[in-house]
Amino acid sequence: MGGRLFVMTGASGVGKGTVRAKVLERTRLFYSISMTTRPPRPGERDGVDYYFVDRATFEALLREGGFLEHAEYVGHLYGTPKAPVERALARGEDVLLEIEVQGALQVRKKVPEAVLIFLLPPSLSELKRRLVYRGKDAPEKIEKRLKQAEWEIRNAHLFDYVIVNDVLEEAVADFLAILTAERRRTPRM
Ligand code: 5GP
Repeated sequence: MGGRLFVMTGASGVGKGTVRAKVLERTRLFYSISMTTRPPRPGERDGVDYYFVDRATFEALLREGGFLEHAEYVGHLYGTPKAPVERALARGEDVLLEIEVQGALQVRKKVPEAVLIFLLPPSLSELKRRLVYRGKDAPEKIEKRLKQAEWEIRNAHLFDYVIVNDVLEEAVADFLAILTAERRRTPRM
């Protein structure tokens, strides 16, 4: 039997990377290293955090159909190289992607059996209240954040599971519980 494809998604800043690191310490998963045109941040390593490439290299692979999904995010391209994911699944390994929302929706279309897990920021209603009633940001920034949060919630039904990342250890436990449940699931006919 082939492996399962798990996708963790959610807005940037929600803590996907932190949850992912904890989950990888505690269960066996093939983590898909993304390719990006974003320059490395201090401490990031090529081939570990990302494959850092220039735009021409990224676009060449894109033209060849080499990505499972890709997205432009704040001026840079990000994508999941298809071949390593397909090889791991064929070996029977479960695979984890950690990607933004647009990319996750592409995976939903291409791989309907993929398990999509959506991370929500803690206390969204609190965030909204703070932004509206006490916000120090310019009104258009508040509006942008609220729109983003509302868009996330509106789209939560497109994902299989939603986890609120409030207390980190609880979010990690929820994630591991979902992995276990999916691994125990009988095959769908
Ligand atoms: P950062 O630049 O902070 O590392 O990542 C920015 C955003 O891109 C994050 O939300 C991250 O999850 C997302 N991201 C990282 N790799 C990929 C990828 O391969 N595909 C997509 N669609 N998003 C990605």
